[in-house]
Amino acid sequence: MTADEVRKHFVEYFKSSGHSYIRSSPVRPFSDPTLEFVNAGMNQFKNVFLGLRPAPALSATNSQKCIRVGGKHNDLEVVGHDTYHHTFFEMLGNWSFSNYFKKEACEMAWQLITSPPFSLPANRLYVTYFGGDAELSLQPDLETKEIWLNIGVNPDRVVPFGLKDNFWEMGLTGPCGPCTEIHYDHISDTPRSHCVNQDLVDLTELWNLVFIQYKREENGTLTPLPQHFVDTGMGFERVVALLQGKSSNYDTDLFSPLFHEIHRICKVPEYGGKFGLEDVDKLDTRYRILADHSRMVTVAIADSIYPYQSHGLRRVLRKALRIADSLQPDKGVDVITAVSRAVVNSLGTAYPEISNNSKQVEYVIRDEYKLWKHILSSTTKEWQAVVASDPKLDSLSDVLSPGLIGALKEINQLEPTGIFPVDLALVCFDRYGLDVPLIVELSSLKGLTLDVSDFQNRIAELKASNKKSLGVAASRVTDWHPSLSDQLENLSSTDDSFRYLYTRSP
Ligand code: ATP
Ligand code: MG
Ligand code: MG
Ligand code: MG
Repeated sequence: MTADEVRKHFVEYFKSSGHSYIRSSPVRPFSDPTLEFVNAGMNQFKNVFLGLRPAPALSATNSQKCIRVGGKHNDLEVVGHDTYHHTFFEMLGNWSFSNYFKKEACEMAWQLITSPPFSLPANRLYVTYFGGDAELSLQPDLETKEIWLNIGVNPDRVVPFGLKDNFWEMGLTGPCGPCTEIHYDHISDTPRSHCVNQDLVDLTELWNLVFIQYKREENGTLTPLPQHFVDTGMGFERVVALLQGKSSNYDTDLFSPLFHEIHRICKVPEYGGKFGLEDVDKLDTRYRILADHSRMVTVAIADSIYPYQSHGLRRVLRKALRIADSLQPDKGVDVITAVSRAVVNSLGTAYPEISNNSKQVEYVIRDEYKLWKHILSSTTKEWQAVVASDPKLDSLSDVLSPGLIGALKEINQLEPTGIFPVDLALVCFDRYGLDVPLIVELSSLKGLTLDVSDFQNRIAELKASNKKSLGVAASRVTDWHPSLSDQLENLSSTDDSFRYLYTRSP
């Protein structure tokens, strides 16, 4: 089946069992100021679950454009390095707004994936259920376990999962409930249920079914909700890969036309599907990141999100441009715009807004490229001079925030080891209030390597160990020099790149 046929079959299947089709919302969230991008099919129904809006139908289905590059769901660092996480992906979903509940949801999901035309083999599938949490006095969801057994799933393939993966909460308070997930084993028919939650690449999570049945109260207790909801999400690229007999999402017709464009324009060897150490010159990884990021950028800009407004978009686009320039020096923008046109061909029928806004997409990519090149050619020198000399730093105290100046002074004192120490990154974050992307940018401008995942872990430790001090640090992140924003507004247009470096997205 082609990807388009898979998407169509999913939607038709649920429509034929009474679900209303509700089109994907834009990736710019319209009802949730806490999100930079829509990251799940349920986002547009959040107010229904909160009881603030009536349900749009008794039950619904759709394929939702999703982006996960920040916040609770940040897959950016793994994209290109594994076979199944993307910055942009489509989530196929079905919802019951108090119409049906666990039994029907599991039965429909199982029937869809194991019957023709999908026909996934049951001896490659696992299902999980919420195994309870003694510490929080949460009971296991034995009802769901029983449902799967009654459907006929082999007991060796019905696995209890913990709080982290199989209990969904909307926030600190509000609707919540247990989940059940369907996983696929790419290599073995033999049950190995003990491995399912060990993040093995050959075992992928395919579909998550959430049963919203409780409300978390302010005092932490759970009370049953008068209405029960079902909220499901299946990874479209993942199911397409399975149905096309591939173990990597990148080997499907969603990515091959994009790779073809990269190959055609850059005249590099064809995509070879290698990962990790096997991908010696990182060419295949660059292929994957370029194609993935071009999809994200195309979809986001088509939904009228612009780099100057969104740090996440700017970061992804800059990274794509950098990789494209490494393959086609000074012509990287032509690579991205060509791949972006291939994205429009691939997704434009399912999401007409992507075709309709394709000119805007190309314009914004080219504009950002010019700005980025300008920063590299002029401001980087200026910036490096700033980083290199303390006296100049002090003379810039009118323009730079005290936090940034403090951090730059510390950076100047680094020994030339090629490494940006995580301890210093933590000082920049905690004491000087710089945010993570800016610290990463500073380290790369100095040509130093920062272990970002270690840094993130240390931030998490900091948050866990000292919530109070985190509050202070977090307020510092936004605590810029009071007159800074006014001055930036007054900078002449030739200083646009300068403005970029010191301002952040609204
Ligand atoms: P994973 O554990 O693989 O990161 P998840 O548990 O974070 O997935 P959910 O929030 O449950 O994902 O989202 C529902 C479905 O969306 C997942 O079962 C998966 O198939 C798909 N999905 C999630 N994140 C991505 C991603 N970054 N790229 C592609 N598909 C994804
Ligand atoms: Mg995830
Ligand atoms: Mg998961
Ligand atoms: Mg999940």
